[in-house]
Amino acid sequence: LSAEEQEVLDAIETENVDFVRLQFTDITGTVKNVSIPAHQVEKAFEEGIWFDGSSIEGFVRIQESDMRLEPDPSTFAVLPWRSNGNSASARLICDVVNTDGTPFDGGPRQVLKRVLARAEEMGYTVSIGPEPEFFLFEKDEEGNATTIPHDSGGYFDLAPKDMASDVRREIIFTLEEMGFEIEASHHEVADGQHEINFKYEDALAAADNIATFRAVVRAVAEQNDIHATFMPKPISEINGSGMHSHISLFDEDGNAFDDPDDEFNLSETAYQFMGGILNHAEAFTAVTNPTVNSYKRLVPGYEAPVYVAWSDTNRSALIRVPDAAGASSRFEIRSPDPSCNPYLSLAAVISAGLDGIENDADPGKPVREDIYEFTDEKREEYGITTLPGSLDEAVDALEEDDVIREGLGEHVVEKFIEAKRADYADYRVFVSNWEKEKYLEKF
Ligand code: GLU
Ligand code: MG
Ligand code: MG
Repeated sequence: LSAEEQEVLDAIETENVDFVRLQFTDITGTVKNVSIPAHQVEKAFEEGIWFDGSSIEGFVRIQESDMRLEPDPSTFAVLPWRSNGNSASARLICDVVNTDGTPFDGGPRQVLKRVLARAEEMGYTVSIGPEPEFFLFEKDEEGNATTIPHDSGGYFDLAPKDMASDVRREIIFTLEEMGFEIEASHHEVADGQHEINFKYEDALAAADNIATFRAVVRAVAEQNDIHATFMPKPISEINGSGMHSHISLFDEDGNAFDDPDDEFNLSETAYQFMGGILNHAEAFTAVTNPTVNSYKRLVPGYEAPVYVAWSDTNRSALIRVPDAAGASSRFEIRSPDPSCNPYLSLAAVISAGLDGIENDADPGKPVREDIYEFTDEKREEYGITTLPGSLDEAVDALEEDDVIREGLGEHVVEKFIEAKRADYADYRVFVSNWEKEKYLEKF
């Protein structure tokens, strides 16, 4: 065993861990668990744990179903909500490998690792600071989720209006116990809506953190008998939930996105990376916004981006450059939503950016005006395109984009497209309340 693996075994001993959940995600981003008794962990480190890959969404066919989980010891964490003084549960995030020991191409974590290895060949590590938003809703008498907000606070409101601040505090304490560094948290614009920002991290750790974060938020909410949701747009006509991601690249000299002589403190490399993101935005949207509901959020008027442009001021653009300098120089991509698979989403966005660096992409000039207010002619004049209007359109764009396809790998692309087309086909045949209200009496 490596020193790090030995440390995990020691921690299992001192923290009275009885069970360890081996976690990984399927292509939709759902966290899967295999629970093993603590005494099996040594074996898991030595040999991995076998499982049937054919029962996992987007993995393999029946005839090649044996797969192995290899736990990453650096991801060990006790699950505070499953633990008391004398019996604890912990988790380890795993990589998925084939029978012959090679990394499995369809494992989202491997996909991101592969893209990050490419960044490293180019001399960069990638830092990501995610800002997931979510809603806390009441449950009804039967214990089912409603869309009744748990409080009626507004942006940055404090108690007593912000009743959910206790729950949010509990969420934050739990995250901190699990090793998160929380930068800030606040009540968001909508009733019942919250945001918690975590400190930027290496992209792989950031993706692991997002997966963990969603589990923690749900578990703590559940304990308080409320429902937490990362659904992108649970209520029409008010803000939806995004997961803005702040991005910067580091090289041996520090922040490769920083240039103190530039108006926005951004370097040539930063602009190229940004240009790559703008060039491939339509295609990676299928991955950063992977549900039918995601496209109800990407509409004008609710602080979510619709237009493929960048800005230092306005929130209607896909990319916003916050006022920051030095080690903090960075930009924020605003389209991803928290229903995405964090590994695939970062892999797609980073592939786009790296392509921008390789091909000297030009993001053009910042758009300072509110693009929501632009006429079609004015948008055309500025060369601003729009994000896909539906999951189906987004999948069309993904199909056509070789850079994003290559970044994700053919296995994932094929399974992903298949799953998303099926979702959309399902949605298309469903008659909604909106249609009934609009047409039932009219025709
Ligand atoms: N909730 C908004 C969204 O859908 C973002 C609000 C903000 O700027 O934090 O992206
Ligand atoms: Mg926000
Ligand atoms: Mg933000």
